[in-house]
Amino acid sequence: MDYRAVETTDEYVARLSTGADWRAEIEALAEEVEADAGWFTALGSVRDAEMWFYDQEKKEYEPVYFDEHLEVAACVGNVSILDGERFAHTHAVLSRPDGTALAGHLDSAEVFAGEVHFRKFAEPLERAHHEPTDLDLWL
Ligand code: ZN
Repeated sequence: MDYRAVETTDEYVARLSTGADWRAEIEALAEEVEADAGWFTALGSVRDAEMWFYDQEKKEYEPVYFDEHLEVAACVGNVSILDGERFAHTHAVLSRPDGTALAGHLDSAEVFAGEVHFRKFAEPLERAHHEPTDLDLWL
C-alpha cells in the first residue's frame, strides 16, 4: 500500500448542466477551480449511460450501454492527472424506475440533473501505468 497525507484547500458545490456529459462536467469544474487533485460525491439523474467493467483476467475494460433514464443514486470519484489532463475517475450506482440498481465505472452519461460536492486537494495526484493491473494508478 502507498499512502500520503492530503490537505483539502477548498470545497465546492456545483449543479451540472442539463444535456452535458456527467464526467466532463466534473472535469470542467476541476479545470475551473484549478484542481489537480480532489475527491467528490454526487447525485442526480442521467440518460444514456456508458459504464465500464474491468476484466481482471483480460486486463481490458468491457463497456456496457444503458439507453434509458436512470437515477444517480450515488456517485463517488476523484480527480487526478492522467497524461497531462485532469481526469475524473467516476464510479456510480444508477437505478431504474423499479428500484433495481446498476453499478460500475461511469465513463459517460447525459446529465438530466446533477449535484456535486467537490473537495480540492493542495497537492496534485498523478496517474501512471501500473504493471500488475495494467491500469493507470496513482504514482
Ligand atoms: Zn473505475
